[in-house]
Amino acid sequence: MTPCWTGLCPPPVARDQAYPQQQEPSVSQRTFRTQPEHNTYDVVIVGGAIMGSSVAWWLSQNVDFDGRILVIERDPSFEQCSTAHTNSCIRQQFSEPLNVKSSQFTLQFIKGLRTNMGGDERVENLSVQDFGYLYLADNHARAEELKAAQAMQSALGAGTRILTRDELAEAFPFYDLNDIILGSHGTKDEGYWDGGALFDWFRRKAIEAGVEYLSGDVTDVQTDGARATSVTLLDGTQIGCGHLVNAAGPRAALLSKMAGLDVPIEPRKRFTWVFSAANPLDRPLPLTVDPSGIHFRQDGPETYMVGAAPHDDVAVAPDDFHMDHSIWETHVWPHIATRIPQFEALKIVTEWAGHYAYNTLDQNAILGPHPDIENFQFINGFSGHGLQQAPAMGRGLAEIIAHGGYRSMDLSPFGYERIVTGTPFGESAVI
Ligand SMILES: Cc1cc2nc3c(=O)[nH]c(=O)nc-3n(C[C@H](O)[C@H](O)[C@H](O)COP(=O)(O)OP(=O)(O)OC[C@H]3O[C@@H](n4cnc5c(N)ncnc54)[C@H](O)[C@@H]3O)c2cc1C
Repeated sequence: MTPCWTGLCPPPVARDQAYPQQQEPSVSQRTFRTQPEHNTYDVVIVGGAIMGSSVAWWLSQNVDFDGRILVIERDPSFEQCSTAHTNSCIRQQFSEPLNVKSSQFTLQFIKGLRTNMGGDERVENLSVQDFGYLYLADNHARAEELKAAQAMQSALGAGTRILTRDELAEAFPFYDLNDIILGSHGTKDEGYWDGGALFDWFRRKAIEAGVEYLSGDVTDVQTDGARATSVTLLDGTQIGCGHLVNAAGPRAALLSKMAGLDVPIEPRKRFTWVFSAANPLDRPLPLTVDPSGIHFRQDGPETYMVGAAPHDDVAVAPDDFHMDHSIWETHVWPHIATRIPQFEALKIVTEWAGHYAYNTLDQNAILGPHPDIENFQFINGFSGHGLQQAPAMGRGLAEIIAHGGYRSMDLSPFGYERIVTGTPFGESAVI
């Protein structure tokens, strides 16, 4: 399979699907209904991007669950969702062990994707384009944090290593390291992977297993005080639900509000640029997490990708995709060119703005039921590291729905209870 360098390539399409010989509609043509087949479903999932589709697929595969599943999606083109704006990278460099384990599960899952999807020969195993993450520390407190995290990651089997400034200079001679004390570098299974292909397979295989996808905008949620009972769509259609899953990404708080619930998640803008360099580096550029907060990495053979937050990192409207062009000139480019003087001459190839579903309490996922409305299930707040968590989180929520508790990985620290008590389950390695 040709690697997708940008993370935006369409998922792989086999030749016989690209040029269908038969009259039967393709899976994608059959993807979205305009009317639901039933009035009520055991599980209604609001949001059909990677999280909603992951939950749908895991549930559809669970031998202990034979209920009806409906996924409702307001934007069947998926043009606006976070999943379409992602940089699609995976790492094991987190400060919280559960996040490390979650990514490690994804690695195992995607590398054996064909087997994990029932041996379907259309499904290709996915690989990681392994350039590694490199976190740079410019002060002693940060250096100590990175060392402690590296020891924990290493104990869990990650290939993270600490490099002194001299070792960094030897391994990556293109950096200006004057202000740097040390770096934490991932030597295996950290880099770009084709998250779009995983999303596509979750969705296609869920549909093939009987999950319905409905084009519709959920505008209201009915409850009886203890349970969510139904949802109402913009066109007035009302659909009953056994469980209601909030997979609404940056719109998670809007959907929760419809059920009278609060969740500390807001859409925060994140900018991405891809540039070509007049003098490309002589070796792959790790995903460098600069102390300035800007991160940059190899993208194509001679192109590089950069991510940054706006200066005023506040909540924005979920349909605000305005690009701030000045931040590149005044802030981002100067920082990159200082860190890597070879990047003094470059040309922007493309750029876009997307949204993190930003958990303002602790920048970690919120997963599982609300304590008062117990069939209202969250899978939200991934704060920029959700794509790589989609397999573990989808499996976990499917277990909650099918069995009433986690069976494979105990994800209860991500539960809503910490929101009630205001007790953060913090992740400090958020980029
Ligand atoms: C710039 C950027 C870079 C990123 N890079 C990475 C990365 O390198 N690695 C990583 O792991 N993660 C990354 N992420 C994060 C990752 O992309 C997200 O965590 C993940 O895609 C979230 O998926 P989701 O399904 O929860 O949300 P979304 O993809 O936003 O999907 C939510 C869906 O819900 C639908 N919806 C919302 N409200 C309603 C409603 N009322 N009715 C019906 N439908 C509704 C929306 O239309 C949307 O399709 C990045 C994100 C951004 C923005």
